[in-house]
Amino acid sequence: MSKNLLSRFAKMPRYTKILVGMTLGIIWGLIAIEVEAYQFTINWIKPFGKIFIHLLKLIAVPIVLVSLIDGISNLHELSKLSRIGSKTIGLYLGTTVIAITIGLIIVNTIQPGEYLPQEKQQELKEKYVSKADLKVETAQDVKKSGPLRMLEDLIPPNIVEAARSNKNMLQIIFFAFLFGLGMVILGKDKVAPIKSLLSSTNQVLLKIVELIMAYAPFGVFALLASLIVDLAADGGIISLFAALGTYVFSVLISLALMIFVIYPLFLRFFVGVGYIRFLKGILPAQMLAFSTSSSAATLPVTLRQVEKRLGVSKRISSFVLPLGATINMDGTSIHQAVSAVFIAQAFGVNLDFSDQLIIVVTATLSSIGSAAVPSAGLIMLVIVLGAIGVDPAGLALIIALDRPLDMCRTMVNVTGDASVATFVAKTEGEWKLPDLQKEDIKQ
Ligand code: ASP
Repeated sequence: MSKNLLSRFAKMPRYTKILVGMTLGIIWGLIAIEVEAYQFTINWIKPFGKIFIHLLKLIAVPIVLVSLIDGISNLHELSKLSRIGSKTIGLYLGTTVIAITIGLIIVNTIQPGEYLPQEKQQELKEKYVSKADLKVETAQDVKKSGPLRMLEDLIPPNIVEAARSNKNMLQIIFFAFLFGLGMVILGKDKVAPIKSLLSSTNQVLLKIVELIMAYAPFGVFALLASLIVDLAADGGIISLFAALGTYVFSVLISLALMIFVIYPLFLRFFVGVGYIRFLKGILPAQMLAFSTSSSAATLPVTLRQVEKRLGVSKRISSFVLPLGATINMDGTSIHQAVSAVFIAQAFGVNLDFSDQLIIVVTATLSSIGSAAVPSAGLIMLVIVLGAIGVDPAGLALIIALDRPLDMCRTMVNVTGDASVATFVAKTEGEWKLPDLQKEDIKQ
């Protein structure tokens, strides 16, 4: 019987497994409170959750380094297509910054983390925010040493030192930029060996992410179980669920604003296409993005839909869309901004205006650095948290909810790519909207 159950579990899709892990974690936590198995849960279950977090943190620095250097060094194509290239990249960056700004406005208005009572925030802060003091120190240092301190801090005096802590991720990103730039200047032929090393390392890292995610259901179970027993005393759980529900609402409403307001306005005013017509063309790609949670897996369908149903030339789509799938993640950047602020709020960490700016910069860069695969954005969130001085253990709060949010943000990512592709094609005179038949829409 139990063997049967185990083999059924093994056959489930990953997101179902994570959901099962999450549900069992909550159930375990609730039972542990009833039967007073608090100490057992802390000693024997919690470490497996910590291991999961360690694995995610472990992979973050290598992923940022490799995928950013790889992405930037790919830009040699741009010398040929410099006009289209700069237009595309400018729009990708612009839409990402708009997306993050929307996310920040929503999360700072709704303040989901404040749904946890003050004592709970304090408790969480003591438990999880080992770097809280450090952040205060840094803020004071910044004040002491003038307005350009942030810029100074961006440039690491030593790369090994920078790689020692996830808090210095911005410095790693800077190094990756510099390295990639060096490669672009040297030219394709001279850096061919590094290029092939990078792309195979990239593949290895993606495999490792896959392995870590295979452990996710167990990690999520342990995280949830220990979080529940940690928060058990005096009705903390109810406030936790209220806070989490409001957090999910904040992410979804920001994504919805992007997909139902920003893109339609952009398409209407800059491309001259109605949103319903655009949706009729892109819907199959959106559905696939929703069900696979991967922009990369969706790419072939996005290409087909954008070319055949939205009338973008192959020349434009084959440049703009693969680049977009890799670097343009509006949905992911919204998720990172909202999540970072939510976790900071839940931990009682005050974020000032410069922290919010740091979020804009790091969420832009880390969404660029996120691979187009499920959960990549969650892993990269470690960077944003590190940059604002919040312990990445805060991921424990939101990890179990990630899959459904990943499905929604990937849909936004793909829609953003398609919108920009349509715009670039129009401005290059390589766009002709085809007449759609009923059958075309269904396919
Ligand atoms: N799943 C997203 C994508 O493939 C990335 C992420 O946010 O995790 O676009």
